[in-house]
Amino acid sequence: MATPSLVLKVDVDTLRGTLEGVPRLVELFQRHRTDATFLFSLGPDHTGRAIRRVFRRGFLGKVKRTSILEHYGLKTLLYGTLLPGPDIGRRAGDAMRRVRAAGFETGIHCWDHVYWQDHVAGADREWTVREMRKAAERYADIFGAAATVHGAAGWQMNTHALWLTAELGFTCCADARGAHPFLPVVSGETIRCPQFPTTLPTLDELIGLDGITADNVADRLLALTATPPMTGHVFTLHAELEGMKFLPVLDRLLAGWRDQGYRLGALRTLVSEMALDTLPRHQVGYGTVPGRTGTLLIQGSAVDQAKSGINSPLDPQRWPGPGYDRSAATSPRPSAPDSPGSY
Ligand SMILES: [Zn+2]
Repeated sequence: MATPSLVLKVDVDTLRGTLEGVPRLVELFQRHRTDATFLFSLGPDHTGRAIRRVFRRGFLGKVKRTSILEHYGLKTLLYGTLLPGPDIGRRAGDAMRRVRAAGFETGIHCWDHVYWQDHVAGADREWTVREMRKAAERYADIFGAAATVHGAAGWQMNTHALWLTAELGFTCCADARGAHPFLPVVSGETIRCPQFPTTLPTLDELIGLDGITADNVADRLLALTATPPMTGHVFTLHAELEGMKFLPVLDRLLAGWRDQGYRLGALRTLVSEMALDTLPRHQVGYGTVPGRTGTLLIQGSAVDQAKSGINSPLDPQRWPGPGYDRSAATSPRPSAPDSPGSY
């Protein structure tokens, strides 16, 4: 059996994460001699708006509220509220280019994280095209080349966005949660842009559940990866968390995964190992994952070629196959996640 891969996908949500978290991650990955995929938020940083909501709704306990301040910093919490949201691409283009110059894979996370998360689920094609185009154009401005990778903010997508992954010419996308790479099927039609779903829980999903703390979260994740799947893993980390306070946790994880026999790498590592035309075709829908508020895009059941076309998988009234938390399917549209750590 070939060595299983473990892909390191870095979601970068904020200006602070881009300027401070990303360089630390670059340094750590270089020390561990691994490639990784950095996905950037390219437009305004309105993080404060999302966080204000979280505080108001009172969903989070005191400990979590305190740690939000610690992870994001006071200034970030005010962007889009008391302070204007800074334009991340304008302010941090150099920092982004340095990542690519250092040899890492780069791609698009979003234009405006908060706006995307709040609106994409119910948005029409025009809205979706506009937001994805803004991100694609800014990416091309910064890097002088078109983006080849897309990984949606907060795993929030709609059918228009899924079609656009192919129309905008991405080589691969990481927009969903799931078990293994697949080609998404929407309304019976296959979208010819492969999805490489995040297969493992994120640190912020695990911490706080089931007695898991920052001190033992690495052990818990390593227990989950002890038996490598043939199709490998995709782990999503955040510049604002693993690039800052949880850097030592990530350091332990990288060493642990090497010891378990994984080849660490970027999405392009995994893409190069797969015959994309032979990937299984799967429906997609909205579902929930433990430790995270709200619904997100989830890999659904495999589509039998002969039966395709019967389901409209993103229509919650006709939810695809088993394996989901169906309670999420009763809402008319998915709800945006509440935790800023959910980015
Ligand atoms: Zn994000």
